[in-house]
Amino acid sequence: MSEFAVDLADVRKTYGRKVRALQGVSIQVRSGEIFGLLGPNGAGKSTLVKVMMTIVRPDCLRGTVLNRAIGDPVALERIGYLPEHHRFPTYLTGRQVVEFSAAMSNVDRRTRKQRAGELLDRVGMGDWKDRPLGSYSKGMRQRTGLAAALVNDPQLVVLDEPTDGVDPVGRREIRDLLIGIRDEGRTVLLNSHLLSEIESVCARVAIMVQGRLVSQGTIDELTASSRRYEIVVEGSPPAWCDGAATVQPIPPGQLLGAGVTGSASRLIFLGLDAIGAQPILDRLRAENRTIVAVQTVRESLEDLFMRAVTDPNTGLIYRPGAER
Ligand code: ADP
Repeated sequence: MSEFAVDLADVRKTYGRKVRALQGVSIQVRSGEIFGLLGPNGAGKSTLVKVMMTIVRPDCLRGTVLNRAIGDPVALERIGYLPEHHRFPTYLTGRQVVEFSAAMSNVDRRTRKQRAGELLDRVGMGDWKDRPLGSYSKGMRQRTGLAAALVNDPQLVVLDEPTDGVDPVGRREIRDLLIGIRDEGRTVLLNSHLLSEIESVCARVAIMVQGRLVSQGTIDELTASSRRYEIVVEGSPPAWCDGAATVQPIPPGQLLGAGVTGSASRLIFLGLDAIGAQPILDRLRAENRTIVAVQTVRESLEDLFMRAVTDPNTGLIYRPGAER
C-alpha cells in the first residue's frame, strides 16, 4: 500500500488544439493529510481534479488514486467530490440533494436517509434541510454540497473551491469541519485560491501556474530558503553593519541589511540560527545597545505565491491564457 492517497505523474491535457491546461503535472497527496492545491484562475487546478474524477479525459496520465488506477469504480466510490459551481435543480430540498448524491454512490436507502440528516446538521443546515435550494444563499448551497460530498463516507474528499461565496464566519466553520474530517482519518484535497484558508489548514501545498506545478511541499519547506533572523536594536544601525562582510564575528554574506524603523534599527540576517546569533548579541551588548527584539521571520504563503506567479524576467504576473 502506498502512503499516498493521490499519486499522479505527468498529467497532460490540451483542450481543443491550443489550450494546454495541464503540461505534465505530478502531485502526491499523503493519506490522512489536508493538501492544498493553489494557483491563479486558469492554472489548471479544476482540470486536474476533473481528470482524477474521470470527468475530463487526459492526453497522458500515470499514477493511482487510493492505490487504484484512475477511474477504478471501487476507488471512485470512496471519493467524496464537491465540484466547483455545482448546480442542482432549485426545487430540490437540501435533504433530497444529499440523498441523491448518496444514491449515486450506491449507499443503501436506510443509510442515506440517516446520513443526510446527520450531515446537514453537521454543516449547519439543520433548520433548512427540507426547504428548496432556490431559497438558499450561495454559502448555504456550498454547505449542502459539502454534506453531499461526505455522504458516501469517503476515504478521500476532493473539494473544489468549497468556500466560494461563503462569508467569513461560514469559512471558519468550514475550516473547522475540514479539520474534523481529517481527524476522522480521511484525506482532503482542497482546491482554493484563498491563501489564508490554505495556510491555516493544509499540511502540504502545491502551487500551479499555467498548467505546470511550480512547487510542492510543506509551507515550512517551501519558505525555508527565505528564513531570516532579525535583531532589532534601539537607535541607528551600528557602524559595522556597513562593512558587514569584512567584520567579525558575522560570517561573510550573512548580514542582508539594516533598516531604521522609528527610533529602532532592524538588522536582518540570512542563514543564522539562535546559536549563531549569540556572538552578534554579545557584540551589541558590549556596545551598550538595547536589544528590543530577536525574531525569526520567513516568507508568508502569499509572498511565496506571488513569487510563483510572477515572471522573473519581466516582473509581470502570469495571466490565464497567456503562453508560457
Ligand atoms: P483553474 O481551476 O486553475 O481556474 P481550469 O482547470 O479551470 O483552471 O482551466 C485551465 C485552462 O483550461 C484555462 O485556460 C481554461 O480556460 C481552460 N479550460 C477549462 N475547461 C475547458 C473546457 N471545457 N474547454 C476548453 N478550455 C477549458
